[in-house]
Amino acid sequence: MTELAAVSVTALKGVGAALAEKLARVGLETLQDLLFHLPLRYQDRTRIVPIGALRPGQDAVVEGTVASAEVVMGRRRSLLVRLQDGSGTLSLRFYHFSQAQKEGLKRGTQVRCYGEVRPGSSGLEIYHPEYRALSASEPIAVEQTLTPIYPSTEGLTQQRLRSLSEQALARLGPQSLPDWLPRELARDYRLSPLDQALRYLHRPPPDADQAELAEGRHWAQHRLAFEELLTHQLSLQRLRDSVRAQQAPPLPLAKRLPQQFLENLGFAPTGAQQRVGAEIAYDLSQDEPMLRLIQGDVGAGKTVVAAFAALQALEAGYQVALMAPTEILAEQHFLNFGKWLAPLGVDVAWLAGKLKGKARAAALEQIAAGAAMVVGTHALFQDEVKFARLALVIIDEQHRFGVQQRLALRQKGVGGRLCPHQLIMTATPIPRTLAMSAYADLDTSILDELPPGRTPVNTLVIADSRRLEVLERVRSACNEGRQAYWVCTLIGESEELTCQAAETTFADLAAALGGLHVGLIHGRMKPAEKAAVMEQFKQGRLQLLVATTVIEVGVDVPNASLMIIENPERLGLAQLHQLRGRVGRGSAASHCVLLYHPPLSQLGRERLGIMRETCDGFVIAEKDLELRGPGEMLGTRQTGLLQFKVADLMRDADLLPAVRDAAQALLEHWPQHVSPLLERWLRHGQQYGQV
Ligand code: ADP
Ligand code: MG
Repeated sequence: MTELAAVSVTALKGVGAALAEKLARVGLETLQDLLFHLPLRYQDRTRIVPIGALRPGQDAVVEGTVASAEVVMGRRRSLLVRLQDGSGTLSLRFYHFSQAQKEGLKRGTQVRCYGEVRPGSSGLEIYHPEYRALSASEPIAVEQTLTPIYPSTEGLTQQRLRSLSEQALARLGPQSLPDWLPRELARDYRLSPLDQALRYLHRPPPDADQAELAEGRHWAQHRLAFEELLTHQLSLQRLRDSVRAQQAPPLPLAKRLPQQFLENLGFAPTGAQQRVGAEIAYDLSQDEPMLRLIQGDVGAGKTVVAAFAALQALEAGYQVALMAPTEILAEQHFLNFGKWLAPLGVDVAWLAGKLKGKARAAALEQIAAGAAMVVGTHALFQDEVKFARLALVIIDEQHRFGVQQRLALRQKGVGGRLCPHQLIMTATPIPRTLAMSAYADLDTSILDELPPGRTPVNTLVIADSRRLEVLERVRSACNEGRQAYWVCTLIGESEELTCQAAETTFADLAAALGGLHVGLIHGRMKPAEKAAVMEQFKQGRLQLLVATTVIEVGVDVPNASLMIIENPERLGLAQLHQLRGRVGRGSAASHCVLLYHPPLSQLGRERLGIMRETCDGFVIAEKDLELRGPGEMLGTRQTGLLQFKVADLMRDADLLPAVRDAAQALLEHWPQHVSPLLERWLRHGQQYGQV
C-alpha cells in the first residue's frame, strides 16, 4: 500500500487542478496533509431534539411539521415558518428567501433543520437554518458521527472538506500511515495508535465527550499533541547538534577592556552577574558556538552581563551584534553602549528598519567594513546585512523573537564559515518545564540576584472610582522630585484605539495636573519623536510620562518610582510584571498602582492579588499557570513564538517531562524514526535543524 504522504490530493474523487491549487494554498497537498488537517470543532447532528427540550444557544437538529409559513413585515421583511413536533413550536426565520423556497415550506410539509436556537420575538427561533423537506417514502437517517468543522478558506466548503477527509480516512491504516512512535513507548505513555486517534478526531462517535474535545484534553488529541511536542523536541535537539558541530571563533579571555569598563561603571557587579559572566566568558573561549540563555528577572542587570560578553569579542578584534525587539529598547541599548564604549575607543553603529536611504546605505557599509559594535532591531536579520567579522550575537528579550530568526543570524558569522556565539537574554519568567521545552537548544544561566539597594515595588490594587486620589498621589510624588509613568492598556486588539486613548488620557492628565510637565509616548509616534520623549523623561525634564505598553520592555529610568496602570485586568500577569519592572530601579521606595475598573471577576481579583503579593517573576509565572483555565490561551509571546498544530505548551505542560524522556529514548534506540517524524510535522521550510 502506498504511503499517504506520497499520494497527491488529485488522486481523490472530485479533485481537479483548480481545487488542488486551492488546497495547496492552505498546505493540503497529500492525503497525509488532509488527515492532519483536524477539525476546529464539532456539531452534533446525531440525534433529533424535541422542540420542547430546546435551549437558547444550542445547536440542534429539529424535525417537525410546518404549521404556517408567512411573510411578515417587522423591521425587515422576513419569511416566518412555524414548525411543530407535538412537544412545542419553533420559528424558522429567513430574511433572504425565494418564492420557490416559500412554496417548498407549505403548511403540512415535514422538515428537518439544523441551526442555532435563539430567543426571538415569537419564542425560540432559528435564523436561516440549514433544512430539507422530508418525504415519508424515503426517510433519511441522522448522522452517525459528530460533524467535523474544519479550518477552511474561501471557496472551500465544509461539505467538500468532509468528503475529502472521508476519502482519506477510507485509505487510512497502519501501513499507509506509519506510526513512528514505537510500540514500547506508546505502551509506556499509554498512547493509542496514530490511525485510531486520527479516525476518532475526524469522525467522533455520538457519545464522544464534546467538552473534552473542545478543551483539547481528549485522549485522541493527547496522542497527537504528544507526537507533535516530541517532534519539536527532536528538532531542537538536532538543531543544537548541528550548531555544536560548527566552528566558532574562540575568543580569549579579555583583560584591558573589561578593566577600563569596570572603572567607569560606577558600581560593582553582583555575585550573580560575576558568576554568569564567568560562565559566558568560558563558553566564548571555546571553538564551539555558545548557545546560552540568560534568564533574569526584570532589573537584574542583564545588560551589564551582555556588555562584558561584548568586550571579550571586541578585545579579540571581532564584531558584536546586539538586537532588541522594539526600537525603544534598541535605542536605549544604543545609547547605553555608546556611553560605555566611547571611553574605550569603540564606536557603536545603528541599524533599524526605519533607517532609510543614504543613512541606511552608510550603516550597511559600516557593518560590512567591520564596525565593531552594531545595535539594532529585527533589521539586523535581513539578508542584505553583511558582517565582516561577526563573532557574537546578543539578543535581548528573546520571547519576541522566534527560533527561526535566531537561526538566520547563525549564517552571518565570520566569512560565512564560522558560526557566531549567541547570547540570549530574557526577563520573561517561564515556568521551568516550559523553558526546558521552548529553549531545549540552549544552555541556561540564571541571574538570581538583584543589584543591592533595591526595595521591592509596593503594589496597590485600587478601583478607578478613586482616580482623583491617585492623581493627587502622582502630583505630590512629582512635586517631591520623583517621576511617574501612567500606563494605558491595550483596548481590544487595536493599537489605533489604544494610542487614541493614551492621547486622551494625556490631555486629561495635563489639564488635571496643571503645572507638572507631562509627556506622551505611544506606538504610533515616529521613532525620532519617541526617542526625544524618552530622552526628556530620562533627563527629568518630563515628570509624568503617559504611555502605552510600548514601555513594557527594557526601558530604564531609575528616578521613576511611581507607576499607575489603568485597567490592569486587561493584561496578562507576565506583562504586568514587565511593566512594573520599569519602577523600583533606583534606591527610592517605588509604588505601582493597579487602577482597575470594577467589577472584577473572581479570577481577575486573584490575579491582581498575586501582583500585590509578590515581585518575583517566577512565582508570578507559576501562579498564573495554575490559575489559567484551559480556555485562556497564552499568547505566543510567552512561548517564544512556537507554532503548534495540535499541542499547546501551556495546556499540555504536564506532557513535557514524558516528551523529553521519549525524545531521548527515540534518539538512542530508534534514531531512524527521527527524520520521518520531522518530515511529517515540520514540512514547509520550518525544519529547525536544516539551516
Ligand atoms: P534588566 O536585567 O532588566 O535588563 P538592566 O540591565 O536594564 O536590567 O539593569 C537595570 C538597572 O540596574 C540599570 O540601571 C543598571 O545600570 C543597574 N545595574 C545593573 N547592575 C548593577 C549592579 N551590579 N549594581 C548596581 N546597579 C546595577
Ligand atoms: Mg533589559
